[in-house]
Amino acid sequence: MKPINFNSGPAALPQQVIDNSIQALQNFQQTGLSILEIGHRTEKFKQIVEEATQRVKNLMNLENDFEVVFMAGGATQQFMQIPYNFLRPTESAGYIINGIWGEKAAVEAEQWGTVKIISNTANYQHRLIETKLNIPNNLRYLHLTSNNTVEGTQWKNFPSTEIPLIADMSSDIFSKKLDFKKFSLIYAGAQKNLGAAGVSLVVIRKDFLQTKKNPLSPILDYEKHIKAGSILNTPPVFAIYILAETLKWIELQGGLATIELENNHKAQYLYEVLEKFSDVYDCIVNKEHRSTMNVCFYLKNENLYEKFYNACSENKFIGVKGYRTVGGVRVSIYNAINKSQVYQFGEFLIDFAKTNG
Ligand code: PMP
Repeated sequence: MKPINFNSGPAALPQQVIDNSIQALQNFQQTGLSILEIGHRTEKFKQIVEEATQRVKNLMNLENDFEVVFMAGGATQQFMQIPYNFLRPTESAGYIINGIWGEKAAVEAEQWGTVKIISNTANYQHRLIETKLNIPNNLRYLHLTSNNTVEGTQWKNFPSTEIPLIADMSSDIFSKKLDFKKFSLIYAGAQKNLGAAGVSLVVIRKDFLQTKKNPLSPILDYEKHIKAGSILNTPPVFAIYILAETLKWIELQGGLATIELENNHKAQYLYEVLEKFSDVYDCIVNKEHRSTMNVCFYLKNENLYEKFYNACSENKFIGVKGYRTVGGVRVSIYNAINKSQVYQFGEFLIDFAKTNG
């Protein structure tokens, strides 16, 4: 039996993306060369970047008022790069902390200007999202994390504000339809819904980009990367190739509307199983804010964890341990995890509850 990979990231990739990547590793587009050997300034690679850029714009329904850029490094680098590009020492930026990733982003921003914490759900162990916010009107931007990968919370309706909105969408990008135009800047590390680790997608509204600081170190300047078409220096060619293949796969599924239906169905099914067996499972996240990507829960009987994790291993359910600081169970069901895989895990949960309840 093939393992089912519920890791939170790097995470499961669509089989088709893996198969195409194997082919490209051996013989990229009939060149007789591996994709690993392709020059980043060749026409063939430029075409991959251009097509991927267009696919992002199509999926996000963006017109020409946005720039799309692929950058080496993870989302953590963006935590720094955003305030480095946009926050002046005399200015304040708002940060909504709905999990450790938002907190880390705020810590980076403190190096560059004043950080105003607009909400911090730490008092609720980040098990809900605070939606009633008092947002001052003199903020440079407002930053939030669309999906909290650790506790499994997710924004369902983003704050309505005139302040430029910035979202770290690392763990739920392209998991559903969204009004992406609401945002001035969106970023996401690739290793969950976009492909392999090593590259981040950054989407920036042009008028917001024009407000950036100057001068900046060229390698950290968004504008320089955009002007160079994501090839300012040698980018992570293979990671970008996989990202491009993943975008194609999303389109082939029928785009974000179809993906959203699947994701809602998968998550709803699992949460229902957990609730049905609430004598065994403790689904701690506030119902309204439950993530469709990371289903997190605890076992009511602490003594059962070892048995549970062992049973998962025996059944080849991989990566179900909760994040190291919070423990429990986390099942990451990103786009590439299909319904039948989720049902298999659901059946397992039911059996485990019946024998251990
Ligand atoms: N933001 C979110 C929402 C995440 O889940 C993670 C971790 N996967 C990060 C940022 C950090 O990403 P990276 O390790 O790629 O820097």
